[in-house]
Amino acid sequence: MSDKPQRLETDLVHAGEPRPRIEGAVTLPIFQSSTFEFGGESEYDHIRYLRLSNTPNHQALHRKLAALEGGQAALVSASGMAAIATTLLACLDAGDHLLAQDCLYGGTHGLITGEMVRLGLSYDFIRGDDPDSWRRCLKPNTRVLYVESITNPLMQVADLEALARFAREHGLISVIDNTFPTPVNFRPLEWGFDLSVHSGTKYLNGHSDIVAGAVIGSRGHIRKIHHTANHLGGSLDSHAAFLLHRGIKTLALRVEAQNRGALRLAEFLQAHPGVARVNYPGLKDHPDHQRACRLFSGFGGMLSFELHGGTEAAERFLKALRLPVNAPSLGGVESLVTRPAATSHVGLSREERRRAGISESLIRLSVGLEAPDDLIRDLESALEAA
Ligand SMILES: *Cc1c(COP(=O)(O)O)cnc(C)c1O
Repeated sequence: MSDKPQRLETDLVHAGEPRPRIEGAVTLPIFQSSTFEFGGESEYDHIRYLRLSNTPNHQALHRKLAALEGGQAALVSASGMAAIATTLLACLDAGDHLLAQDCLYGGTHGLITGEMVRLGLSYDFIRGDDPDSWRRCLKPNTRVLYVESITNPLMQVADLEALARFAREHGLISVIDNTFPTPVNFRPLEWGFDLSVHSGTKYLNGHSDIVAGAVIGSRGHIRKIHHTANHLGGSLDSHAAFLLHRGIKTLALRVEAQNRGALRLAEFLQAHPGVARVNYPGLKDHPDHQRACRLFSGFGGMLSFELHGGTEAAERFLKALRLPVNAPSLGGVESLVTRPAATSHVGLSREERRRAGISESLIRLSVGLEAPDDLIRDLESALEAA
């Protein structure tokens, strides 16, 4: 048998685990020590210290995550936003310009339009499926292209292949937020992206009990990002690293069940007379369905939909649900539901939301691991109450 296991399911369990096992422990123990005895290290980045993300817990996670997405190296961080902020700050110098997709995760949107502008960086937003807009917005000082594999909350899939190719042609570092598909459904480095970032809070950990982040890419890029991370300080605590590591081992089982559950729920909702519209890339009439089929091995556990009755009906529906919890975040074992106009996108004006295609009654659902039949029964009775 060669060194590298062939299948992702096997890598989830075995890749990156210390060999020989530490004290024979089958499960990597938690190294809850902020500092480690000096061993003659000659560089600051190599001193063994928890903030420098080099404990055995960190190193095992780095090797495992790199293997899962076919990267040479990886770095975990204190949150998804720590991974995104550290990656962008490591890749951009003052005066540089960034091209970013126009419908980003709220925290990333705030980071780019607020903090980064304050530091002398500039940006343009581009549409994910409009190559003319990419060319029009390109500047001599453009350094980075930043996109998301599946957008939130409308579940659109940009022309990711063309975006990666465009970045390569113009010498840009391409960064993609791969939180929604996870490596089970999509491996961006195989499609030409330079760096893949994750909110490990969501599917990678999968149990709604920590915040964590990760970035995966080439040895050279990760070395630079790791160096910046050591100064910015957003490192992952050992205990959270242990929980993330434990969660990752069951990623394929969870994501495959969530793929199946979300497709069943999307089909049920689409057929229901009280539902005006369903956004799920696995539905045949989703505008990006063909593209999603080519890129992804599953369509993910996230969907959104609109009710006919507007905001009041949406609120009545949310109150009547018994199983999904009305809470932000996603990717856990329990289904979570939110109304983006009232939560994740409340910072936008009604007009900005309208232009982004986010209606007041839109409901977003993160499908958990409950039996799909039970979820469907619950949705059905909540739709009657709406
Ligand atoms: C949650 C999320 C983030 C931010 O991650 P945190 O772990 O909350 O910092 C970034 N991108 C996407 C797509 C997310 O869903």
